[in-house]
Amino acid sequence: MLNIIENKPLSNLTTFQIGGAAKYFVEVKNEEEIREAILWAREHGEKFFVMGGGSNLLIPDEGFNGLVIHIVSSAFSFVERTLEADAGCNLLSLICAAAGEGLGGCEKLSGIPGSLGGAVRGNAGAFGSEIKDFVTWVQVLDTNTLEIHEFSNTECAFEYRTSHFKKHPELLILRVRVALGEPQKHLIDETIAEREKRHIQNVRAAGSYFMNPVASAAVVAKFESEKGMQSRGGRVPAGWLIEKAGMKGARVGGALSSTMHPNYLVNESGSAKASEVRELAEKIKKAVKDQFEVVLQEEAVVL
Ligand SMILES: Cc1cc2nc3c(=O)[nH]c(=O)nc-3n(C[C@H](O)[C@H](O)[C@H](O)COP(=O)(O)OP(=O)(O)OC[C@H]3O[C@@H](n4cnc5c(N)ncnc54)[C@H](O)[C@@H]3O)c2cc1C
Repeated sequence: MLNIIENKPLSNLTTFQIGGAAKYFVEVKNEEEIREAILWAREHGEKFFVMGGGSNLLIPDEGFNGLVIHIVSSAFSFVERTLEADAGCNLLSLICAAAGEGLGGCEKLSGIPGSLGGAVRGNAGAFGSEIKDFVTWVQVLDTNTLEIHEFSNTECAFEYRTSHFKKHPELLILRVRVALGEPQKHLIDETIAEREKRHIQNVRAAGSYFMNPVASAAVVAKFESEKGMQSRGGRVPAGWLIEKAGMKGARVGGALSSTMHPNYLVNESGSAKASEVRELAEKIKKAVKDQFEVVLQEEAVVL
């Protein structure tokens, strides 16, 4: 039996800690409840939105005028060197559980907040490692037809911060299989410590707000000579562009482009409005476009 809650504040469910309430809200623990929630939305003529860990979301100040389906499924199991886990599982908890089983390989993803489903949708990654390097199978529910589909790694069409599922938001990720190898337990703590040192951990933000864009050869060359490092796939860090465009530390109300990591738009005051974050984002986009002819695209999901 679903527990549909009316007028549920959402800000505390997101790392940004911004935004209004959902008209309706439900937590779902398994496939059956997910199906029920979708049918409920259909019967009541409400649109719905799927939420995982809320770490890549900007909820509008006016909230969401429909049903928020919060995926909190948490079952997982190991068969030999494969982990099969519900999409709602917390990514770091899974990495730690794998280490406990003497399995690993994906420790550099430690500290990326949010759920496994959210990570697969956006091909989350850090320090040269991406979830695509480990995923072997994804099971999804097509929320239009309520049919189940299965995807191999290749069919997931993973690329930098995207996947088939990001391009097909009607596909709700239910379960994921991950191939594991030898654990490097020490890397879990080391990675998290490195993230803390770089001020990219435990911040009221949604992580990198913009994706690293593909830039012209001239911009790439400028980046490479200044930083003494190779750009990856013709992309330059959005944070570097933001800084060069003079927007590091720029502020609108309570929203700030972090001085430590300019591509993090942070809810510095704790009371920033979504409208302020969006306005800051637009100013940054304009400054970067004016200076570099590069159009920044949001990585964060702006509802
Ligand atoms: C401090 C901080 C640091 C971060 N560092 C990194 C980093 O190093 N690398 C990186 O890649 N990201 C990083 N992020 C961003 C974020 O953690 C990732 O994008 C994460 O994978 C999002 O997962 P989530 O469960 O929180 O998704 P949510 O924020 O809940 O949702 C994001 C999108 O995914 C969709 N979604 C969620 N679950 C499902 C599902 N089961 N099926 C289909 N769609 C779904 C939602 O509908 C939404 O469109 C960081 C964020 C923060 C706050």
